[in-house]
Formats: sequence, C-alpha cells, structure tokens
Amino acid sequence: MWDIGTELTAIRAADLHRQRRVYQADGPVHMVDASGRRLLNFCGNDYLGLANDPRLGRVLRDWSGPTGSGSADLVTGHRYAHEALSEALSDWLQRDRTLLFSTGYMANLGVIAGLTRRGDLVLQDRLNHASLIDGGLLSGARCRRYRHRDVDHLQRCLDRPYRRRLVATDGVFSMDGDVAPLAEIAAVTAQTGAALLVDDAHGLGVIGSQGRGSLADAGLDQFQVPLLVGTFGKAFGTYGAFVSGPAEWIELLEQKARTAIYTTASPPVLSAATLAALDLVRTEGWRRERLAALIRRFRVGASQLGLSLGDSGTAIQPVIIGEAGAALAASRRLEVAGILVAAIRPPTVPAGSARLRITLSAAHADEHLDRLLDALDDPELRDSGRN
Ligand SMILES: *Cc1c(COP(=O)(O)O)cnc(C)c1O
Repeated sequence: MWDIGTELTAIRAADLHRQRRVYQADGPVHMVDASGRRLLNFCGNDYLGLANDPRLGRVLRDWSGPTGSGSADLVTGHRYAHEALSEALSDWLQRDRTLLFSTGYMANLGVIAGLTRRGDLVLQDRLNHASLIDGGLLSGARCRRYRHRDVDHLQRCLDRPYRRRLVATDGVFSMDGDVAPLAEIAAVTAQTGAALLVDDAHGLGVIGSQGRGSLADAGLDQFQVPLLVGTFGKAFGTYGAFVSGPAEWIELLEQKARTAIYTTASPPVLSAATLAALDLVRTEGWRRERLAALIRRFRVGASQLGLSLGDSGTAIQPVIIGEAGAALAASRRLEVAGILVAAIRPPTVPAGSARLRITLSAAHADEHLDRLLDALDDPELRDSGRN
C-alpha cells in the first residue's frame, strides 16, 4: 500500500510540512501575498538587486529572436547568445572554457556524474547543497561526507586508493553563509592528486574583485580548482548556470554531462539577459559595497538584540532557533509584522538547527533593515536562540 495520507500526516506532525504560496513581486524588495498584503522580503537570493533591474527587463522585451531554442545544445540549440555568454564568463573568471546548463541543480548532477563512476570516490562537506549530494549519488561512486570545513578530516578521507577522487564543496554555504577554507582544501587536493569542484552559487557576484567569487577571493586559479560551478539565479538575477575550467576538462564534460546533453538548450534570450547582468555585476561595484554595509549593520543590530547569529560575513545571515516548530512560529510572527523570512528546517539543515535564514540585498534600504531589526526584537527569539 502507498499510504500517501499517512506520510503527509507524519510530515505535518513533525512540523516539517512545506507549503508553496503565491506571491507577486512589487519592486526589488517587496512581495504581495494572495490576500493583497505587502511584505518586505528578506529571504530571496537576489543579493545585488538585479532581478528587478529594468535594463535586464528591456533585454527580454526587445528580443526579436525565437523564444525556444528548439533542440539540445549539441544539435542546433547552441546559439550566438549562448556562445557570447560562455565566452564572457570564461574571460571574466580567467578560465579557458565554459559549459552552460539550464540550472545549477543540473550543472552539479552533470559535472559529478559525468566525471566519476563506480570505483571512484566523491567527498563532500557535510553541509553541501542537495544538488552536489545528489550528483554524487547519481554517479555511482563511493560517497562520503567530511565534517563541515574540516580539512584534517577531509585529508584522512582522501587517503585511500580509488581511480578518481573528487572533492566537492560550496564556496559560500547556502544555509549558513560561512565560507569554505578553499586555499587549504585546494592544497590538500593538489597534494593527493584529487580534483576539486567548488559550487560558488552564493559567492559569484558577491565577493572577490569584480564579484569574481570565492575562488578569486582565495587567489585560486583553474589549475588549482579545475571545476567552478555557478548559477545565474542568485546574484545575477536571471536563470541558468554553468561550469567553467581548463579546456580539456570542459571538453570532456561536453561529451559526458548528461544533464547538458539530453535536455533542450535554454531560451537564448535568457543568455542575452544574463550577459547584460554580467556587465552590471562587473561594473557596478557599489552594489557589493552597499551589501557589505548592510551586512555589518545587520550583525551589529542583531547581536545587540541577543540573537544567535551564524559565523557569516556574507549576505546569508542565519538566526539559529533549534526546533523546527519554534523556527516556524518565529517566521509566522515576522510575517504578522510584515516581514518575509523563511524558516529553514530539516532535512535542509541538520536536526536541531532549524533557523530563520535571513538574506540581505543591495536593494534593501536602511529603513528596511531597521524594520527587520525591530521585528526581530522578540523575547521568544532570544530565549530559543539561547538553547
Ligand atoms: C541555489 C543553489 C544551487 C542550484 O542552483 P539553481 O540554478 O537554482 O538550480 C546549487 N548550489 C548551491 C550551493 C545553491 O545554493
């Protein structure tokens, strides 16, 4: 028997039921819910405030080519807009070659499963994004997780004979906002002949010179880190993803990454809009400065309120609550106060570490941040944060 209802009841009973609601964006930082209430959004990943930028909207409106690409990349789907974006990304990141994917999720599946198989080893940070974990499972390789940011543990796990050993880590961790010790990880992988994949979904555009991300910040090139995965759905404000690296590595992935081969190429207008976004990411450094100033202000304000903050200097600022039900209740109280912050619960984060995942954007005004801090001045939050 399938017992679908029983399973749903168990999910509800554990406070783990997830609900998809409908919102309408109203400008860069507000959402209007189904009842017409206007809420201040502090849970998106639009870190630079580009998702609502009129210049990107104009690229979509002015597009005169076909909407659909009509076929896979390797047939006739790869158009000039895709090629221009791939080349601009390679140039920006100082890497030989770039392969586009429809989403970051597909990029991680395709890259990991394209390069490893049974008889190989895939090592991942415990807190890596689900798409990296799923890529390891899909590959058939032996999968192990090392302790969060623990390079000694990683080194011990690597010390085993396998055909290929791949280490994968988030650059900036998506639910914690802390940064992987990339220089140390790269040193260990180089020493042992393993390869390193960095998924910089939350670092690209946000940190490093010209927003080049975690690798640029750590001074690492494509020979130290052959596989860099990025997504356009976050700081770029559009949609899509890529892997970038040495020519031969990417050429091999063009042969082997099934999530790029057996799927329709994305609408070329998306690449055109992303190319315009890349130009804004590179040149509008004030967005990164604005974001950094908001992060500093948030951390000072939130620690004065006695909240349990994460070890994060990035746009992702978790307030750790503990139990799933308490995190959900806190998120609901914020919503009553007109503020949208998602409660992140297991299995997205480890049991007992449910949290409010607050994210900041260059588009937030000081007054928005003040409203958030006012709403976070909540004795129940302080109490649960001290558990
Ligand atoms: C969001 C995210 C992804 C998935 O990217 P999409 O383009 O949204 O599919 C992959 N890795 C990390 C670390 C992410 O945060």
